[in-house]
Amino acid sequence: MSYPYYRKLVNLFYPARCMFCRRNMEDERRLLICPDCLAAYESHGIQKFLLPGTYGICEYALDYRDEVRQALLRFKFSGMAQYARGLAHFMLPAVDTHMHIDYISWAPISPIRHMRRTYDQSKLLAAELARGCGIPLLRTLHKWKHNRPQSKLSGHQRTLNVQGAYRASHCAQIKGARILLVDDIATTGSTLCECAKTLYKAGAAYVYCIALAHGSDEGKIETNKTSHG
Ligand SMILES: [Zn+2]
Repeated sequence: MSYPYYRKLVNLFYPARCMFCRRNMEDERRLLICPDCLAAYESHGIQKFLLPGTYGICEYALDYRDEVRQALLRFKFSGMAQYARGLAHFMLPAVDTHMHIDYISWAPISPIRHMRRTYDQSKLLAAELARGCGIPLLRTLHKWKHNRPQSKLSGHQRTLNVQGAYRASHCAQIKGARILLVDDIATTGSTLCECAKTLYKAGAAYVYCIALAHGSDEGKIETNKTSHG
């Protein structure tokens, strides 16, 4: 059986659905995003918001609302790990060749959460991003504190909740390295700040923060849509 026929047969029994609008798709199974949604969400471009403290900006690719929110909830809590490639696709333009990134890393979940969920969604995003741009993926952090989910807390509580929650890993590689740190959803950015703080303490030369989605207008920097990749 030739591949197009095989694919038609697979689609007949297991139709691939767009992760955003949920329409069945005839062809595009790789990203799990229909052409209309792909065009619409690509046009969002890479945006930025200001992180608290002295950690600069965080870039992000999507606004955490409506269909994006529903897709990310399925990605994170309903086992739809296969969304990672399609979602990471929107972050690729942020990996500017001028950044000289040594490693791509991620803000990890705790071992207890990992056991329950069976995968770390931010690691999947970071791995897809690393694969897409040919930069090595490196675990730089362990989360040793099993804290309350950030989504249930208000601004200041989020900062306190993640304080001291991470420890650096692979310290020899971190020293002097420029690291692109990936998180799935950033609201105030306190998780990314705590991770960046831990990496700077371990000797990182620079930490670039990127989130797949941003969940608040707070701190958002008005920019022209940038696509610098
Ligand atoms: Zn769609």
